Order: sequence, then C-alpha cells, then structure tokens
Amino acid sequence: MENLFSDRINDVPKSFIREILKVTIDSSIISFAGGLPNRHFFPVKALQQAAHDVFEEAGNEILQYANSEGYLGLRQFISHRYKQRDGLDIPVEDILITTGSQQGLDLLGKTFLNEGDDLIIEEPGYLGAIQAFAMYRPRFHPVPVTEGGMNIDKLAQIQDERQPKLLYTVTNFQNPSGISYNNANRRAVAELIRTSSCLIIQDDPYGDLRFSGERKISFKRLLPEKTVLLGSFSKIVAPALRLGWLAAPAPIMNKLVIAKQAADLHSDYLAQRILHRFLCDNDIDAHIATIIAQYGKQKEAMIGAIRDFFPADVRFTNPEGGMFLWITLPEGMSSMALFEAAIKQKVAFVPGTPFYVDRKDSNTLRLNFSCVDEQTIVEGIKRLGQSIKELV
Ligand code: PMP
Repeated sequence: MENLFSDRINDVPKSFIREILKVTIDSSIISFAGGLPNRHFFPVKALQQAAHDVFEEAGNEILQYANSEGYLGLRQFISHRYKQRDGLDIPVEDILITTGSQQGLDLLGKTFLNEGDDLIIEEPGYLGAIQAFAMYRPRFHPVPVTEGGMNIDKLAQIQDERQPKLLYTVTNFQNPSGISYNNANRRAVAELIRTSSCLIIQDDPYGDLRFSGERKISFKRLLPEKTVLLGSFSKIVAPALRLGWLAAPAPIMNKLVIAKQAADLHSDYLAQRILHRFLCDNDIDAHIATIIAQYGKQKEAMIGAIRDFFPADVRFTNPEGGMFLWITLPEGMSSMALFEAAIKQKVAFVPGTPFYVDRKDSNTLRLNFSCVDEQTIVEGIKRLGQSIKELV
C-alpha cells in the first residue's frame, strides 16, 4: 500500500494542531490551544430564519448546481463592503467565492506553484498555509515577523537571491502571533515587491476583528495589480458554512476559476444563498461589534494575567484584534517540554514549532483567547505561569 501514495501526500505532515486538540477534548482542561471562533456568537436564530426564508422563496433554485465564480449577490456584497470599509474598488468580476479561505490557499498553490518554486512565508506563519502550499512542493523562504511587521532586510535579501513567485502574508492580527504590520512596514514591503515579478497573497480572515487602534492600509491599495486578497466568513459569521473568497485581477482570476472548477465545480450554493440572505436581513457590523467587544475583554484579561503570573523575562505580543497572542519564553526553554508540564496542570496551548517550516523545537507558543471566559483565562494563565517557573 505504502508505495501507492504520491510523494506529495507522503511529504506533507498531518496537522499537528489537530493532533494536539485531541488531548484537549478532556473538558477539565483549560484550553488556549484551539483556533476556533467563540460559538456563543454564532447567529443561530438569524441563520435558521435565513435558511427558512430562502427555502420558502427559491427552494428549487438553491438546490441546483451553480456557477463556479459564486453567487452574484454574495460577490456584490463583498465588493460593496471593500468600497465602504476601505475605499477599495474591487469589481464583482474579480471576486471568486471559495470553500473557506483555506481553499483559496490551495487554489493559489495549484495555479502558481511548480515543484521547487520559491515562496516567501512569514516566520512564524499560518500552519494551514504551510500545509496547503507544501502539497505543491515549493521551496519555502521564511521571513521573520516581529512587532510592527516583516523583517525588511531579510525580505530584500531573498528577493535579490531568489526572485520568488509568491509572498504569503497575514498582515492583520496574524495567526499565530497576533502581530499586525504597521503602515510603514506595509509600504516598505510593497516597495520591494513593486519592481519584482512576485505576487502578494494577503490572507485576511481576522481584519474585521479589530478591538483597538486604526485600520491599516491594504496591499490591494498599495499594489493593486500584484495583490491577491483572501477573505472569510468563518470568524465573523460561522466557520461551518465553509465560505470565503479570493479577490484577484482578471488574468489571475481566469486561471483560478479553472482550478476551482477542477476542485469542486463551485462552493456550496445552498450555504451561499443562506449566508447572503442572512447578510441582507441583519446588521453584520453590529454583529461584529458584539464579537469584538467580548474578544477585546478576553484579550485584556489574558494580558493582565500574564503580567501578574508569568516570569518577567517572558515576552508576549499585545494584539489589537484577532484571536491569538504569542509568547516567547526565555532563550533555550522548550515549549514542547512546557506543553507536557502544562497538560499535567490541565492547561493546553499550541507549542510554536509547527508554525516554522524548519524547526524541531522552539521557545515560543500560541495562546488563543477567543473561546475562554475571562475568569477561566486568569486561572489558566496562573497555572501556566506556575508551569513555566517550574521548568526554569
Ligand atoms: N487563513 C488563516 C490565517 C487562518 O487562521 C484560517 C483559519 N484558521 C484560515 C485561513 C482558514 O479559514 P477558513 O477556511 O475557515 O476561511
């Protein structure tokens, strides 16, 4: 059997996070390990109503095959929202509905990457993107991301040496670090890319989840012809719908549609129609405001508890939005060893290792703050602080 599998599938590891989440099924464990939106904010009743209404009105239509680009009404909603929120003109024709933004990553890999092609990713970077791109066997070039954004010198060096095809970035409240690029850093990245043949993939599932600070400039404004934007309804409505989108200039879109047709013909049309109805009949901004008010409080609780209970030489990011923050333990300390110790204290997190393409261990870890209430956060961080002190 073993020799039947493709090299492609043999080379890509299983999602480490999914493996870790198995440990946290035990309900007595305080888990900062997940990457899930808080289920209390799923608009259950409103989606139920939207489903009821579209079935009543167009039952035969919504159960039929549909076009690959996606439901026009939903694409119009997305285009309009970019205009309203960011002043960006993105025509409906440039928007492709995808089966979650995760599929967007796969379609981009399929469309652009030959084996051995050079691809820039953030370090640490989104594990799901590493996994999706790894299927196409590129050469990964990690560029460190720290408070404020990408390391420009390293980016320039890779640009010079390799002329990579793609640069993958999560510029707002990055998964895993919670870091956002400031405007100066975005401009510096754009200047380096402007004269190259590289495309920027700006993956932005968290951009709407800002609880403090100002919205930052999009690469789509800085480099409209060289930027592919990815968006998602997972964090602002519900992930089970599996609906996201890609926004790309026409020549790229034509190829992406071919990749999309080969993958699944089209994303779930029923889900698209229910979601569209929900978006027409409800105030999505009010819904998002409710979510971020709570996430903001939970983040504050976590930061406060870290200050109270972690040793002073542990560093942490303090995100203005999103669902994660990033911890850097003292040099030489293993986050894998801490994971083992913390599980005994019934606290879980994700060790930093899977967010790097080339490390076996690290002194970093990701903490999720979206799913745990403030009181439990304080208790969990207290236990984790204790585990860190015991390891020193
Ligand atoms: N990109 C990033 C950075 C993410 O964190 C996630 C979800 N964890 C995704 C893409 C995939 O999201 P979805 O497919 O649900 O839209």
